[in-house]
Amino acid sequence: MKINEHYRELEQSYLFSTIAKKVAQFTQEHPEQEVIRLGIGDVTLPLCGAVVEAMQQAVAEMGQKETFRGYGPEQGYDFLKQAISDYYGEQGIAFNLHEIFVSDGAKSDVGNILDLFSTQNKVLIPDPVYPVYVDTNVMAGRPITYLNATADNGFLPLPDPAVKADIIYLCSPNNPTGAVYTHAQLEQWVEYARAQNAVILFDAAYEAFIRDPSLPRSIFEIEGAKTCAIEFCSFSKTAGFTGTRCGYTIVPEELQFEGMHLNAMWLRRQTTKFNGVPYIVQKGAAAVFSPQGRAQTRENINYYHENAAVLADALREKNIWFTGGENSPYLWMRCPDGKSSWEFFDFLLRKAGIVGTPGSGFGQNGEGFFRLTAFGDQENTRKAALRLKEVL
Ligand code: PLP
Repeated sequence: MKINEHYRELEQSYLFSTIAKKVAQFTQEHPEQEVIRLGIGDVTLPLCGAVVEAMQQAVAEMGQKETFRGYGPEQGYDFLKQAISDYYGEQGIAFNLHEIFVSDGAKSDVGNILDLFSTQNKVLIPDPVYPVYVDTNVMAGRPITYLNATADNGFLPLPDPAVKADIIYLCSPNNPTGAVYTHAQLEQWVEYARAQNAVILFDAAYEAFIRDPSLPRSIFEIEGAKTCAIEFCSFSKTAGFTGTRCGYTIVPEELQFEGMHLNAMWLRRQTTKFNGVPYIVQKGAAAVFSPQGRAQTRENINYYHENAAVLADALREKNIWFTGGENSPYLWMRCPDGKSSWEFFDFLLRKAGIVGTPGSGFGQNGEGFFRLTAFGDQENTRKAALRLKEVL
């Protein structure tokens, strides 16, 4: 029996365990100091009323012989796919229902989609980045080329025609940097992907945080993207589904490589290895698109936006360079006084009792930067902003 040797090549991720250890030690030494956590990317507001009501009704249906449901379609119920399709329709993007695949979240799909591609493919991944893109490719032994995201390019790197790529990862609004690509920038990516005969894996998990109507929420707003892109989206951050689990992936019919349709391949993959999202959860997800659900989720997103604005104001007042915070729940700041990411982490914890995430945990180019999230409690975030102003 031989194991997959590539697992030996995975870098150990000590980021969140080191943060937890440091915070535990600090609170033990300073029990009087209230610690404010702006580190993790999890939401804090509960599911909205419309979602809860829809799920309760679905639970009741599951308890009656007449309305009970067993295995559902692996790729999702039509009622949810229709709601997703209508949502894209509002942005002028049309999809057939079979191009939409409902899943238990974007993380699974982002990892599982790699089943469709040869391990010989060259992968292009921005640095810094959501670590799942890197690790899932290391596990399969694919060669990775990193794309430098830096302060100079506003953490929005553009394609270099001299670099060969088969699979390209883009995340906008970005985790960890909060930066958002414009239409013109995404057009360059689509043009590059088509010229390279490459596929773009576009992670739109934070699209609901885009407020500026001039910014694209979907790669499919770009002409030609249906021939070169797959889009991943999630109810996690949009509607607080991080613990409830539901997302969706769009695989356009037009995607064809070596005579094979990626849509048909993904359907085959999902129907073979996945048995669908619970009916109850899909009912809850569909309610996100109801008029009440929309109003309520919008309210929650506004709450997080207010947090982001409070933090952004504090950084601006202190002349700290940062990206994000306007169309994203993340703020990505340069560490002051040339501090490294971990030096600043220790400084902020000791001087202000604030926990953030060291940028170096997201890739080499993250060194010297720091991520704050707007997903915290509003009162605590305001307190944190005051403390930031005091210590910076
Ligand atoms: N994609 C990005 C960029 C993320 O930051 C996250 C979660 O933090 C995910 C995907 C995971 O989403 P889900 O909860 O739907 O698996």
